Amino acid sequence: MDSTFYKWHPGTAIVARPWPFRPKLLPDELLSSWLIRTAHANGCDIMTLTGLIWPGWRVWTRDVDRHCPPRYLNELSTTCDVDPHAFEKATLSPVSASICGHLLPEKQLWPWILPIGARNRLRTGGLQYCPACLAEDSPHYRIGWRLAWNTACPKHEYLLHDRCHHCSLPIEPHRLEPIKNISCCTYCESNLKDAPTVKVNADSMSFQSQADMVAITGSGLFGKDSIPAPDWFSLAWFMSSYISMAVKRRSKSMIQALENIGISNLLVPESLHSIEFARTDERHYLFQAVDKCIKMGKQCFIDALVVAGTTSNSFMNGKSTNSLAVLEIANALPSASRGHRHESDSISINHPNPRYVVEKRRIRLLQRIKAASNE
Ligand SMILES: [Zn+2]
Ligand SMILES: [Zn+2]
Repeated sequence: MDSTFYKWHPGTAIVARPWPFRPKLLPDELLSSWLIRTAHANGCDIMTLTGLIWPGWRVWTRDVDRHCPPRYLNELSTTCDVDPHAFEKATLSPVSASICGHLLPEKQLWPWILPIGARNRLRTGGLQYCPACLAEDSPHYRIGWRLAWNTACPKHEYLLHDRCHHCSLPIEPHRLEPIKNISCCTYCESNLKDAPTVKVNADSMSFQSQADMVAITGSGLFGKDSIPAPDWFSLAWFMSSYISMAVKRRSKSMIQALENIGISNLLVPESLHSIEFARTDERHYLFQAVDKCIKMGKQCFIDALVVAGTTSNSFMNGKSTNSLAVLEIANALPSASRGHRHESDSISINHPNPRYVVEKRRIRLLQRIKAASNE
């Protein structure tokens, strides 16, 4: 993977004006990262630089990496004589629009985008980093480090960090003084490139590489079925929520369903509420389980739930979803109130089958899952 490799945008060849030093936007670099590097290269405070580009706009009190309104993109473009689309691609709006099917309102949580929790210029989190990437020439912050499904660096195979390794405070490079390197912690001045590294194996990154591809190509696989990107991400989000709920509640049927899928001893803390607010290592382990569910396909997943006695009500757990795939799974599950039977199975919630029948079905299911994973 060389320095010209990119997933989300190629960067810019050159910035024409107006400052003496004009770093180019690097491949996959976040807009804020480029603004910070440009300010520091010219020896000026970031507030001074953005005050010149956008007089009167308090850019650092908002999440400019998530969305920069067209008016401000045009003003930046005019100032630097660079195509505004190049800067727009350095924000998370195009990625979010791809995974949601449309651009979301500014004042709400965006699924799969790590929130920075901006309060004035302070932040509570939202930016991850790879120490080895920051140790390379021209350290900068990347689009992928704001995406919830990215938990490890594909180049170095290290788990990403989501806060300073020394003081455990959030990463806030926009508040660094110009004399500081962009890879320094704002609070304790430790260099983040010196953070300890945790090697992960390539298999554990299967979900994130798959999610990257779905966001880029606009569709993904659920088993062997191709589904649109918004449906795939809604499904993965719902499965993440279902699995963490199973761990949290210790529900017998939910745990049994996960064991049927081959997920046991899951390293997900009981306090996990939503993937956007979860720690990087929590998401890393959770997504390995989600990866298994998605790869096994709809029918195998339904069978695993049915054999464990899961009803549509307990599966949905009062949640709503835009995912057609999730609704199809829920509709195929028995209803607790009506004792509805799934067409390919005959477990009745009102009249449980004998243990030997359930065990027979479980063995048959495991054989199907094994066959599906070997195909
Ligand atoms: Zn790296
Ligand atoms: Zn620190």
